[in-house]
Amino acid sequence: MPQFAPNLSPARNFAGRRLGAYIDGQIVQSPGSSLRDIFDPATGQVLAQVFDSDAATVDAAVASAKRAFEDGRWSSRPAPERERVLMRLADLIETNGEELAELETLNQGKSIGLSRFFDVAWSVNYVRYIAGLATKVTGETLDLSIGFPPGVRYTGMTLREPIGVVAGIAPWNFPLAIGLWKVIPALAAGCTAVLKPSELTPLTALRLAELATEAGLPAGALNVVPGAGATGQALASHRDVAKITFTGSAATGRRVGQAALENLSRFTLELGGKNPAIFCEDVDVAAALPGAITAAYLNQGQVCAAASRFYVHRKRLDAMVEALSGAIQTMSIGPGMDPTAQINPLVSAAQRDRVQSFLDGVDRSGATTIVRGDAAPEQGYFVSPHLILNPSADAAVQREEVFGPVLTITPFDDYDEVVAAANDSPYGLGASIWTNDLARSMRMTRAIRAGTVWVNTHALLDPAMPFGGFKQSGIGREFGKDALGPFLETKSVCIATPA
Ligand code: NAD
Repeated sequence: MPQFAPNLSPARNFAGRRLGAYIDGQIVQSPGSSLRDIFDPATGQVLAQVFDSDAATVDAAVASAKRAFEDGRWSSRPAPERERVLMRLADLIETNGEELAELETLNQGKSIGLSRFFDVAWSVNYVRYIAGLATKVTGETLDLSIGFPPGVRYTGMTLREPIGVVAGIAPWNFPLAIGLWKVIPALAAGCTAVLKPSELTPLTALRLAELATEAGLPAGALNVVPGAGATGQALASHRDVAKITFTGSAATGRRVGQAALENLSRFTLELGGKNPAIFCEDVDVAAALPGAITAAYLNQGQVCAAASRFYVHRKRLDAMVEALSGAIQTMSIGPGMDPTAQINPLVSAAQRDRVQSFLDGVDRSGATTIVRGDAAPEQGYFVSPHLILNPSADAAVQREEVFGPVLTITPFDDYDEVVAAANDSPYGLGASIWTNDLARSMRMTRAIRAGTVWVNTHALLDPAMPFGGFKQSGIGREFGKDALGPFLETKSVCIATPA
């Protein structure tokens, strides 16, 4: 067990516990399973130790969720009560927000400002929005068109019923927020859930489970199984899972989809992106710069919707490159807990090495690289912000999701050609267009094949706006007024009564 200093903050105290799966309303340790070190990416030091969940632990978690679903302790609760419990959970996330933000930053590496603003405050808003949908589930009454026999009248209607046990599998870039996206709509719909956080970042999910119990969620309604791919695979292929909601890479998404098809369980996939941002000839570079920097470098580019391919009209290219390279030279690099640090560590040593291997490939390809002048700190998993000018269209850095502080810039002259280049990707998660020409922005918005198109902003998510991908960026949508739909079955009812 790591040694932890006395007088710790609540976040460090929580991390200092030896943690395991959360089943039936409590954290259980699985002595048979292996104990995993959880690192602070800013220092490379061990922050916590968490048991991986083996197949037996996953089985126990699914069985717990199944009991909680079948005996109706959650699924049969009237919708206003479910809404009230989830609203209480939102309140608890808010009141414990500083602890959660610190825990997220210590474990994931991101800026404490981002953890406060997005992972906590945005999520509180999200939970309240989704909780409110619990009381808005409606079926339909149907005018039936078949002929009625003499003396009989048929009435048709639909009921919407919770689908059963939901498996949520989350990545490491926004562990708390995406963990909530995986389970809150399921719970609002009356399902019970088993959440598997990333093996790199399980801490906020476990703390969330404790808060959910405190909010009044009955035991078994939300279980958490930390662990790596084997845990995810055991969960995704479990026969008692009715629906899987997955966020992560396209490669893992395929495996999850295959496991779901084996059992004919339902599934939705939120996958990667290689998102273009197109800066048109009328763009005001100075005005666009803060948004462009955020689009590319927020959370060190570890954002599925990050803009990693900039296309800049040739008339604005020099001004844009000058502004961006000036900006990255002045960015301060440091731990996420330092609120003034603009570039923080990547999540893991493996992710840092993966990003570095893309950069090594660029150096060999002959494209121009601009990098922040001062070297990144040696301790921790830091990579300096990079700009890659004019990579070839088939370069790995231009086609694959790097998930690091690496932005490519390609000039363009023709609007049809730039839309074709933007669409030339297996992904289609998001895209942005920067212009004040309304007609041009609308023409390009329609032509771009992506789940979200932003104009003069990028990666702005809102619980009211459906979010998901075209092409290999996913299957299905999250958020929006239909967010509970994927967690509900439709039951048709036909009643014959005497006319
Ligand atoms: P990943 O695919 O490696 O892992 C995602 C989750 O799947 C983790 O919990 C992991 O342990 C689990 N897993 C691994 N193998 C599994 C298997 N065989 N069966 C079941 N589960 C398994 O992704 P990551 O590296 O954690 O996250 C980064 C990726 O997530 C990027 O591609 C990013 O674009 C994507 N992402 C997408 C969205 C979105 O909403 N579209 C949001 C955030 C991240």
